[in-house]
Amino acid sequence: MNANQHRFAMFVDVHDAPALVVGGGPVALRKTRRLIDAGAKVTVVAPQIHDELVKLQQAGALRIEARAFDNNDLSGVSIVIAATGDVGVNRDIATLAKANGVQVNVANDPSAGNFIMPSLIDRSPLLIAISSGGASPVLSRLLTARIEAFIPKSFARLANLAGQYRAQIKASVSDWRERRRFWEQQLGGRVGEMVLQGRTTEAETALEEAIKQYQANEVTGEVYLVGAGPGEPDLLSFRALRLMQHVDVVYYDRLVSDAVMALVKPDAERIYVGKKRSDHAMPQGTINDQLVAQAKAGKRVLRLKGGDPFIFGRGGEEIEQLAEHGVAFQVVPGVTAAAGCASYAGIPLTHRDHSQACLFVTGHLKNNTVDLNWHALVQPQQTVVIYMGLVGLAHIVAKLQEHGMASDKPIALISRGTTAQQHVITGTLDTIVDQVKNNEVKAPTLTIIGDVVTLREKLNWFEPGDSQIKLID
Ligand code: SAH
Repeated sequence: MNANQHRFAMFVDVHDAPALVVGGGPVALRKTRRLIDAGAKVTVVAPQIHDELVKLQQAGALRIEARAFDNNDLSGVSIVIAATGDVGVNRDIATLAKANGVQVNVANDPSAGNFIMPSLIDRSPLLIAISSGGASPVLSRLLTARIEAFIPKSFARLANLAGQYRAQIKASVSDWRERRRFWEQQLGGRVGEMVLQGRTTEAETALEEAIKQYQANEVTGEVYLVGAGPGEPDLLSFRALRLMQHVDVVYYDRLVSDAVMALVKPDAERIYVGKKRSDHAMPQGTINDQLVAQAKAGKRVLRLKGGDPFIFGRGGEEIEQLAEHGVAFQVVPGVTAAAGCASYAGIPLTHRDHSQACLFVTGHLKNNTVDLNWHALVQPQQTVVIYMGLVGLAHIVAKLQEHGMASDKPIALISRGTTAQQHVITGTLDTIVDQVKNNEVKAPTLTIIGDVVTLREKLNWFEPGDSQIKLID
């Protein structure tokens, strides 16, 4: 039976309410604490009393009757918690309480009482309550932990700020639809971010500024340059996810997986800017211009890039132009392909026995050549990670050998790392080019060169088939 079927959710004011807790063990203690936190006047009745309850009594937070429950204990009480550890006794108390119109909760027996105490996420004045109706307290707790992690403690500050300005904004923005939009923009945008970062005074100034701008019909947006990671959405940062859910328009490229895109606010406008090799759906200059123009038009703009925006992502150029135009922006790091692919292929990028340094280089072929510091790349005891190196692979391998790298140096090619289509080929400098010819290797691919590649034999853990995540083709 679903014990929550007939539950009506409400938050009840118990300030100064006379409350009775029957039981003196750890469960009674936990529930008593919550009643005290809410301001109830608690009496605990039990023959044996937990030390912490005694301490609370000494601090003047509750009254204790060190004896067995008596039916008369219910008189004048508005809330009862039966937590004696004896199912029969608890149920008797519940029956009596219900007959007397007293609200009763029974520990570990939710359907015996008439109210339950949900798991609570406290960001006062924000309160989030979760209950599984007794079906699975563990599941409620897991969910609570997830939400706890997802909603920073500083949300309390945000709720306080909103409360503080509520009346003023109601007076300044009279249409309720516009007001809702205004609040969404402020709490989900720059003001919200400032509060979450602890910059409350600045946030207040910004909010007041926004009210003035609204009244003067001026609006300013901002740009979030966000790293979407290599594909698997679980690898997004909390900040990335939060910003993704508060935007008006998103510019994304091919390296962003569909699973990541599914997390963007559903009604945000989506603009694909390509970036397939030699197939630029939108030239870089146009992207840069549009980011500025959209923000100036008051939009919250998400520039979502595969991996990390500052690693071979031209993120620097995009925000340079924003800075020049005085557009506010934030940069959110992402898991770069090297980190994502290395982990998911079981290849540590450094290792005490094999590699004390790691280089990230681009293998992008320009005029049929790759311009790299080959001498630096062939040094011993290091790992070389090559981004965009598939087309130029033969050239790169030849150059490395020409500069003295051993032909049996281990090398791995990771295609579509972290996704359901991850495919890893390992070989040596000598064999890899033929191996790639014989396999249909799909972009994007990352190349890792170094002795660490051999560790994959032991450390490979990821089964791509288990993942549902695909990159956008
Ligand atoms: N900013 C990105 C890199 C962009 S350059 C980052 O930090 O990861 C594009 C190159 O990244 C691709 O050519 C490929 O080498 C690499 N890459 C990105 N995602 C990848 C993935 N899921 N699997 C393998 N390589 C990937």
